[in-house]
Amino acid sequence: MTEVQARADRLVELLVERELDSLLVTDLVNVRYLTGFTGTNAACVVTPGQRLFLTDFRYVEQAAQQVTGFELLPAGRELAADLVPRLAGRAGFDDAHLSVRTHAKLAEKVEEGVDLVAAGGLVERLRQVKDEAELAAIAAASQLATAALERVLERGLGGRTERAVALELEAEMRSAGAEDPSFPSIVAAGAHGALPHAVPRDVEIARDTLVVIDWGARLDGYCSDCTRTVATGRLSDAAREAYELVRDSQERALGAVRAGAECRAVDAVARDLIEAAGHGEHFGHGLGHGVGLEVHEEPRLTKQADGELAVGNVVSVEPGVYLPGELGVRIEDLVAVTADGADVFTSFPKALLTVG
Ligand code: ZN
Ligand code: ZN
Repeated sequence: MTEVQARADRLVELLVERELDSLLVTDLVNVRYLTGFTGTNAACVVTPGQRLFLTDFRYVEQAAQQVTGFELLPAGRELAADLVPRLAGRAGFDDAHLSVRTHAKLAEKVEEGVDLVAAGGLVERLRQVKDEAELAAIAAASQLATAALERVLERGLGGRTERAVALELEAEMRSAGAEDPSFPSIVAAGAHGALPHAVPRDVEIARDTLVVIDWGARLDGYCSDCTRTVATGRLSDAAREAYELVRDSQERALGAVRAGAECRAVDAVARDLIEAAGHGEHFGHGLGHGVGLEVHEEPRLTKQADGELAVGNVVSVEPGVYLPGELGVRIEDLVAVTADGADVFTSFPKALLTVG
């Protein structure tokens, strides 16, 4: 049995736990996770005894090649009408993704005795724990992205715009085989780096400043995510101190990652250090997030996060210090949680690198 087929088996265990007779899966990322299907219109219904996959005529061929372990059913483009007769008993649906309109259609047409039950987040729960195939895809995406940045930085940053560097980075990733960047790349120099989600500008990168580069590749559907902050010459003491503070807190937080660690406690390891250095208000986002088929998924490492890390979680560890009007520093690694620590996917060095 393939790893993909085993995922639907694990989903059935969750259905039994929630006393559901069937689950309607409509979010395409979840459909892909369960079936391997990469097209843009499909749904599946999973019951303890049945696995049904519905798509419209445009994707019948593709589904026949990609989907195993599910009975393939042709359907109209509006899948809702064809789904109705497939639902039974306590029928779970994904209340976080199903549109109000589709829900109304289902509710109007389902047979007597079928109860639509809000059951969002079940597939997402499975997706938090990566299997071997997923870990291998994320590792490959990370390696590809790291190599792309190395090639870009060899050519230097001086005299080039943030946008030119970002475009080149994305071109390098694509030519190395990436389907896409996993999110719009961030290249942000000087004061612009103080915006955690800065958009690259048509502005030349200055000498003697810090540049935040946050980038990732998507490969076989899986995302990588990494941030490095590099210098373009001599730095002020404030910039150097901010860099060393973020690096220290990032490495200590990495050291706290292991199965069983509370998510909020891992966040606190980095946050406490940054607060003690007087920069608490300059670290306004969470320490990290899960990464997989989506670049932001569960689990989250934040102040408010509930829950503990588990073996097979893939999370980013990315503290930052942002001084408005001056500079920003963020250092981010992507790691797989293990029983006694973390396997780091992102190999780019973290000692302050100067790129002319
Ligand atoms: Zn990132
Ligand atoms: Zn991230």
